Amino acid sequence: MSDTLQFVNFGFHPLLMEGIEASGYETATPVQQQVIPPILAGKDVIASAQTGTGKTAAFLLPVMNKLLENHVDGQVGALIIVPTRELAIQIAQHIEGLSYFTHLSSIAIYGGNDAQNFVAEKKALQLGADIIVCTPGRMIAHLNMGYVNMKGLRFLILDEADRMLDMGFQDDISRIIRALPEKRQNLLFSATMPDKIRQLARKILHDPAEVNIAISKPPDKIVQQAFVVYEPQKLQLIKRILKGTSYKNALIFCSRKQTVKQLARELKQLRFNVAEIHSDLEQAERENVLAAFAGGRIPVMVATDILSRGIDIDTIDLVINYDVPGDGEDYVHRIGRTARAEATGLAYTLVGEKEQNKFAAIEK
Ligand code: AMP
Repeated sequence: MSDTLQFVNFGFHPLLMEGIEASGYETATPVQQQVIPPILAGKDVIASAQTGTGKTAAFLLPVMNKLLENHVDGQVGALIIVPTRELAIQIAQHIEGLSYFTHLSSIAIYGGNDAQNFVAEKKALQLGADIIVCTPGRMIAHLNMGYVNMKGLRFLILDEADRMLDMGFQDDISRIIRALPEKRQNLLFSATMPDKIRQLARKILHDPAEVNIAISKPPDKIVQQAFVVYEPQKLQLIKRILKGTSYKNALIFCSRKQTVKQLARELKQLRFNVAEIHSDLEQAERENVLAAFAGGRIPVMVATDILSRGIDIDTIDLVINYDVPGDGEDYVHRIGRTARAEATGLAYTLVGEKEQNKFAAIEK
């Protein structure tokens, strides 16, 4: 398959193409390249893909395209079930952006006590909306009132299915599915594929196309170590690492720019030759400090995640995570700044007492 499949190759409706362009998407991401064709071909799909891969547009675009090409008024066309209201809101925003130039209607149905929302939700469930995004609990509340009409439903999408099972929504999902017509296209997305997801898939999907988007892995030649410490010990530990390790360029990541500024200040007081980089610097200043760092005049750089992607300085042989990055993907990007080209590298992560769960998730 081509690495650079363009959206024009999918033959999407022109009004949908306008939404794609307005969203700033140029090439399809790997999950989109693999998932869109089978969905367009009418197949059920099971895909393991994490947040950040472009998975939302991977199911929204082909479903929207089919709803546009074969539009029926007055019914619910697609139902997307998600674990949390945050995700429901996020997907609703995606729908709004991508469908901006079309006449497709959509609504997000999630918990909360807003009576006005409830009335709008009820109306959509009775009279139809092209796409409904819902959390299980809220949908059950509506189902219990007896007016939900899903007769024309053509697409069922379960997003972050593993999280839904972890949150105990299995029965709610079954209950919702019983209210749907049997003949429909089913799409299941999950970050992980434990057995219980496979079992769920066997119940819901028919002869699905299977797509696996591999999770990024750091190169083997990076030696990785983690230290579990109390927050106030981190500065001393960094000092010891910098004194006790031989390196050409050391890059220290902090998640917040306030921490970057403070740590750079403290290291300067300890007489290390340090520069800092974060979003408060002008572009020209950033370029200057980067050049000084790459040229070896300043051997230590403290940075936010703005430096975790894209910079390619092959003398970086030590990366220190002053704090635990947001997720596995960020971690891989951060430590991937070392051991560029043929070199080897060292990556240390300082795990504060409150960061242990987050680090455990990254290790997994
Ligand atoms: P998701 O994995 O669905 O949460 O998407 C992650 C982010 O990638 C979102 O901000 C999307 O708007 C963006 N995105 C999705 N598809 C593309 C694409 N083909 N090109 C650029 N950005 C994209």
